Amino acid sequence: MPENMNMKSATIDKQNIPNATADLMKRLQNDISDYTEVKDSILTGFEVSDRIDAIKTKIMKKLDASESDWNDYHWQLKHRFTTAEEVASIIDLTKQEYKDIDEVASQYRFAVSPYYLSLVDPDNPNCPIRLQAIPTISEMDPAGKLDPMDEAGSTPVPGITRRYPDRLIIKVTNQCGMYCRFCQRRRLIGEQDNHADREMIYNAIKYIADEKEIRDVLITGGDSLMLSDDFLDDILTRIRAIDHVEIIRLGSRTPVTLPQRITSELANMLKKHHPLYLNTHFNSPSEITPEAERACALLADAGIPIGNQMVLLGGINNDKYVVRKLNQQLLKIRVKPYYIFHAKQVRGTSRFWVRIEEGLEIMESLRGYTSGMAIPTYIVNGTGGLGKTPMLPNYLLYIGKNRAVFRNWEGETFEIENDFAPNEFKGKEP
Ligand code: SF4
Repeated sequence: MPENMNMKSATIDKQNIPNATADLMKRLQNDISDYTEVKDSILTGFEVSDRIDAIKTKIMKKLDASESDWNDYHWQLKHRFTTAEEVASIIDLTKQEYKDIDEVASQYRFAVSPYYLSLVDPDNPNCPIRLQAIPTISEMDPAGKLDPMDEAGSTPVPGITRRYPDRLIIKVTNQCGMYCRFCQRRRLIGEQDNHADREMIYNAIKYIADEKEIRDVLITGGDSLMLSDDFLDDILTRIRAIDHVEIIRLGSRTPVTLPQRITSELANMLKKHHPLYLNTHFNSPSEITPEAERACALLADAGIPIGNQMVLLGGINNDKYVVRKLNQQLLKIRVKPYYIFHAKQVRGTSRFWVRIEEGLEIMESLRGYTSGMAIPTYIVNGTGGLGKTPMLPNYLLYIGKNRAVFRNWEGETFEIENDFAPNEFKGKEP
């Protein structure tokens, strides 16, 4: 190592930094001092790996499982926890919680993978993993609609949802690794796990082939990676054969709830179908674990850009520091924060709803305070299928004929000229 690269022995002479620069450095440090004070108390799965390992051992013992069972996603799916009795064998439940889980599970699908259950903090009733995975009686609140986005009304053929001119969704399954308690598609999650039948999917692909404007296809469900590698390969091959389809996206929460699904075989199959993107769904720093990191690395190494679509959920991530930590940690595991979705008012999910001001405050707390790469777009979905509507704090204070006035991330104002006629500069006179 060159001598000047030896950071331990290097000393920096701060005496020679001009006063104005030193003041600026101090102010910048100060700008994030509130976050630096709390960030280490917001834990990822890496910092609580001992606790997670202890629960994993307990689950494996109960299910008489080996390490290779645990790492096999088929085993994980087959052994999902689906009743209060099963959950109570791993995590203490009160009598009321026990009763509530079974009552809710009789109405809304409940299943959690052994892996995701191992992330629950058994000593914290408000654990963000627990709130996403385990039913509570609040799900019986009748507020909200089953289909507030009117997906049914934008379905030209079975399996397709189309709301925009050049892109659409094809739903290939109603199965997921876990059934999230805030799911917007809970009306489609039936008693039994079903993949759409081949004939219906081929018909949907024919629709895409007939519609020449479609250049972007999102394969989702449920969770697109619940399909076998062979079935998915078949679907991707057929869509790839359509000339006007430029990009394909996969929607999958498996990197978060069932990272065992991401195997090298899957990654090798997927990389035949580039350009291919995957959007996933981390909602809490506690979901970032060594297993999730491994899954994302396999996908990223296969050249698949990964985006994160967080849902803003009361009690889970409606906190500016939690979101900043989440987004920064996601970049470390090669996932780009892409969207923050304002939660839709879907029946059975009212405990997670928050006010729009909370989302705007979070956005305000990101811009300038962390890398632009860590700042997603905050989206409110138009009810009745009116589409994604971006939400931003207001940085434009005034716009007039000659000038526009702004405020920056620290609240300082500035203006720029806004008075341009067509450029008539013709060079210097000879
Ligand atoms: S993975 Fe997605 S579709 Fe499946 S239950 Fe969770 S939010 Fe719903």
